[in-house]
Amino acid sequence: MARRTKIIATIGPASEREPVLRDLIRAGMDVARLGMAHSTLEENAERLSAIRRIAAEEGRPVGVLVDLPGPKVRAASFGDDPVVFVEGAAVQLRIGHLRSRAAVIEVDYEAFFRDVEPGGRMSIGDGRVILQLGDRDGDRLSSTVIHGGVLSGRPGLHIPADRLSVSAPTPEDLHAVEFFLEHEVDMIALSFVRSAADLDRLGTPPHPHGPLVVSKIETAAAIADLTGIIEKSGAVMVARGDLGNECGIEVLPVLQKQIIRQCISLGRPAITATQMFESMIEGPEPTRAEVSDVANAIWDGSSAVMLSGETAVGIDPANVVATMARVARHADENFDHHGWTAELAELRLTDAADPGTSITDAMTVATARAVEELGIRTIVCVSGSGFTVRSMARFRPSARILGFSADERTVRQLTLSWGTEPIHLPEDGEIDLRVIEALELARDQGGVEAGELVAVLAGTDPTSRATNELRLERIPAPA
Ligand code: PGA
Ligand code: MN
Repeated sequence: MARRTKIIATIGPASEREPVLRDLIRAGMDVARLGMAHSTLEENAERLSAIRRIAAEEGRPVGVLVDLPGPKVRAASFGDDPVVFVEGAAVQLRIGHLRSRAAVIEVDYEAFFRDVEPGGRMSIGDGRVILQLGDRDGDRLSSTVIHGGVLSGRPGLHIPADRLSVSAPTPEDLHAVEFFLEHEVDMIALSFVRSAADLDRLGTPPHPHGPLVVSKIETAAAIADLTGIIEKSGAVMVARGDLGNECGIEVLPVLQKQIIRQCISLGRPAITATQMFESMIEGPEPTRAEVSDVANAIWDGSSAVMLSGETAVGIDPANVVATMARVARHADENFDHHGWTAELAELRLTDAADPGTSITDAMTVATARAVEELGIRTIVCVSGSGFTVRSMARFRPSARILGFSADERTVRQLTLSWGTEPIHLPEDGEIDLRVIEALELARDQGGVEAGELVAVLAGTDPTSRATNELRLERIPAPA
């Protein structure tokens, strides 16, 4: 059985060169994540086109996710070498964007002194270093290291979201959105979302005409408006780095399960992110605890697991992805498909007022049942926007899910969907012809044998996005 859980890898200095990108794709990267913190828009646009070109050469769909930083406060760069902070050392903080050193950290945020709370504690680099803040003296804030560690690149400094005077999306985010819409980017992630209204301000055309919008859940306010945010999002990220700063690390496991459950019931892919294989930034193998974390995130219902520094600045990005693929495949093989499908039949939430979602909901639950009862091994979803495929994938069937769409961008967006093998459908015509074509492609590209009984899910009503048809068909013999 092929791997069902998808892998997102962050592209950075260690992985931006073309041979490494190719190795990442070969090792199993399904989605490449481009961050804005370390490179210009133009540099990222070049990476985007390189990834598209290499993916085409490799014959594998690869999605590209642009991650907007939001009001993330970062230190100016520490340069090429990691810097060690030892407990008890004095560190000064000042506003600047040129260079950080062990004794003076420059903070690239104009409102720093207004938003920061003197006398409090501050986490840097997702908890790698903790400072006890002292008093302000002119243009500097004194502090003492109370938890030492190593910092590199441009680590984030945590200021609680409710103290930040800048909210997401920032003007820079909006500028980047405009830029990447031109490049037909597949997915855009918004950091530090606080409410569903933040998503309205993003100004992307509503899906499927625009990119899939990924809301990063990493503020206390987002937890309070979770359902509203998920309903407005195409997918969601459990952004454990900043969420742990905001809510306390001890609540992360529970929040992770709650967020994923809500996503599943609403048919949105959930991404579990941050520090999944952190030790592989420097080492050849993950810790046992990390392996367990990844497997449990999958059994919680994550559609995708994400790599951050591991592939952006780590010593061997392709090895990290290959290891992640191995761990994920084994967790997938031990997934309780039957128990999950049965539970979800109860859990799914539908908007009864919206026939698009309630009809699809009823049809996918019926498909999940038919598939189990008849031992069907392949589900053929003929979709426009990918909505049908995502709605089906949340049932976590043991059957393969082939996700067909005539829209190239939808095909690339389906790289994020659990268990889905995206296939491009050349024709976007009449539904009966599209189904025949999908069945033939399932045979010729998907390796499904002629004569096999498959479930076909499709929408035949051009005025609605609802999936209103389920057929059980046999794969035709080659002409
Ligand atoms: P970041 O988001 O890596 O962009 O901060 C993920 C997280 O906060 O966990
Ligand atoms: Mn974050």
